[in-house]
Amino acid sequence: MTHSPTEPRQIVHWADGAALTGSPTGWSDVTNPATGEVTGRLALASDADAAEVIAAAARAAEGWGRTSLARRTQVMFAFRELLNSRKDELAEIITAEHGKVHSDAMGEIARGLEVVEFACGMSHLLKGGHSEEASTGVDVHSKRVPLGVVGIISPFNFPAMVPMWFFPLAIAAGNTVVLKPSEKDPSAANWLAALWQEAGLPDGVFNVLHGDKTAVDALLTSPDVQSISFVGSTPIAEYVYETASRHGKRVQALGGAKNHMVVLPDADLDLAADSAVNAGYGSAGERCMAISVLVAVDPVGDDLVARIADRTRTLLVGDGAPGATGDEKEADMGPLVTRAHRDKVSSFIDSGERAGAKVVVDGRDVQARGGQEGFWLGPTLFDDVTPDMEIYTEEIFGPVLSVVRVGSYEEAVALVNANPYGNGTAVFTNDGGAARRFEADVQVGMIGVNVPVPVPVAYYSFGGWKRSLFGDTHAHGTEGVHFFTRGKVVTTRWIDPANRPAGGLELGFPRND
Ligand code: NAD
Repeated sequence: MTHSPTEPRQIVHWADGAALTGSPTGWSDVTNPATGEVTGRLALASDADAAEVIAAAARAAEGWGRTSLARRTQVMFAFRELLNSRKDELAEIITAEHGKVHSDAMGEIARGLEVVEFACGMSHLLKGGHSEEASTGVDVHSKRVPLGVVGIISPFNFPAMVPMWFFPLAIAAGNTVVLKPSEKDPSAANWLAALWQEAGLPDGVFNVLHGDKTAVDALLTSPDVQSISFVGSTPIAEYVYETASRHGKRVQALGGAKNHMVVLPDADLDLAADSAVNAGYGSAGERCMAISVLVAVDPVGDDLVARIADRTRTLLVGDGAPGATGDEKEADMGPLVTRAHRDKVSSFIDSGERAGAKVVVDGRDVQARGGQEGFWLGPTLFDDVTPDMEIYTEEIFGPVLSVVRVGSYEEAVALVNANPYGNGTAVFTNDGGAARRFEADVQVGMIGVNVPVPVPVAYYSFGGWKRSLFGDTHAHGTEGVHFFTRGKVVTTRWIDPANRPAGGLELGFPRND
């Protein structure tokens, strides 16, 4: 990806295997968060553009849905090989538009690749059941068939991995895709589209529609789109769920989070402190599985906060592109995604301070290794946070870790369960019995035991509870396969001349015998 620093690139849609500019309602700036430079101008789809991209997917749906499993599998493997061999290129694109450091971008791609690898086994996952002689002379078999056109709407924080939670399964199962990426970091989607073409995917099977609410609404309401997979903030997830359901689609809409990490008194405090720093400040806290609340059960608070603070002060904040810090060491943490988001997160720090929380490490003072106009904010550690404070009640989505102190295990669990979100949580302890109890007691979808970011492997499913998920189907794993297919059950009677059924008229409801 080359561009002149003074000439932002135009970033446009991808339909039918080619770039499509269409007739945009406007152009939105794409920035490099480490420099503040505008690097791209993104076409925002009009209704007509959305209709054109959806029509491309609809035209390709029948042919791809009837393509043999063998051929589909070959394309999946080709895509996997290409992505694996060129992942550095994609990581650079992610860092340049999102801001996360290169190694973190590589981690994101690795987790997306896992889903591609899982989807390479789709032939096995789509096998149906067969019952011979279910009734006299009657056999029954079941199968899963593709839906047709599926829509995927993704957030800024994982421009490659989150789309890859869905599209490998959707495509391997025989669907065609319209992906609407975040307008903040849209280039990864176009790169992936070109890679699919190189892997031999027929034109029209994977399409990219760029834009804002107009593009989203077109997907939610189009009669040609059969399902919506959404990931983003809770208010938009709820809107997407309601609107798309009203238009007859199946919907999985994953929302926001406020993930608590509970540290029990017998925990390994060095492991807990390392984990809190990694999970609190990795990707500048812009992860739906980030730890944003650390619940310290008495008496570990003082010791734990000191260990976390020591580690936090060593973090290098800077431009995450390889070699960009001018140092041997890569930055640990990059900038925030936009200036507006940096300012919003910074204002949460002001709010926490005003509310009386103790600022142990203040990210507002950061000295970052990067452009002067970069969207910098350093890691911030609050102690003595209480559940009535805004920094506790809101999803901050930045590098701000709040420590809440409680007196007992029961108080810790009550805090986790009182939260309206239920995405992820973790317990740190060396007591197997306590961990087992925690696993049973918490009302959360993904739980870590001495694992701070318990993102399930691709063959399990990813999803939260409560206001972290609208709809009942989680992403990837067998739930993902189920989401992107619908069932058919076929009941068959072949006439065997040696054993002909009696026939005759019988208007009663058919019974099996
Ligand atoms: P967002 O909700 O602002 O945007 C998500 C998508 O919705 C984008 O494609 C955006 O263009 C679109 N969108 C935004 N406003 C819209 C509107 N008014 N109408 C229709 N569409 C609209 O989210 P974000 O800021 O890109 O991402 C961060 C959020 O995503 C956080 O809340 C985070 O917790 C959440 N997230 C959740 C998960 C999960 O698995 N639960 C994973 C990643 C991110």
